[in-house]
Amino acid sequence: MHCPFCRNPDSRVIDSRTSDDGLSIRRRRQCPKCGGRFSTVETASLNVIKRSGVVEPFSREKVMSGVRKACQGRPVTDADLAVLAQQVEEAIRQTGSSQIDANEIGLSILGPLRELDEVAYLRFASVYQAFESLEDFDAAIAQLRADHAHRQVSASSTTDDVQ
Ligand SMILES: [Zn+2]
Repeated sequence: MHCPFCRNPDSRVIDSRTSDDGLSIRRRRQCPKCGGRFSTVETASLNVIKRSGVVEPFSREKVMSGVRKACQGRPVTDADLAVLAQQVEEAIRQTGSSQIDANEIGLSILGPLRELDEVAYLRFASVYQAFESLEDFDAAIAQLRADHAHRQVSASSTTDDVQ
């Protein structure tokens, strides 16, 4: 990478640190010719294949804006969305593939969004999974109810264990 100040083709790494999420490395560099300092950020490339066939880099911003619509009027902050987008990116990177279908991003959003806000989850799922009828909503809600009941049972059995 060329020095951004004098275009010298060489630079020296003077510091490198991994980001908190472990997904990127920031290197502090110095140009041996002009002494200018600059940073580079290195991440593994992750591309999204859209339904149209267009390939574009994965973007947390796009995940956030996609989910934000489903969260209108819900108690979900931008910070919550940022965490969700990070979880989605981590889940996708853990699969080890560098290229994924846009569809898979939608799938990876469902889990964390459900943890965040069930109403937003239902809205997102209804668009993403193309709910066509009230029965589709009924089925999704029944699933949520069943999981709630399951959680309550596990919570009370934990209490029993303590006693
Ligand atoms: Zn330079």
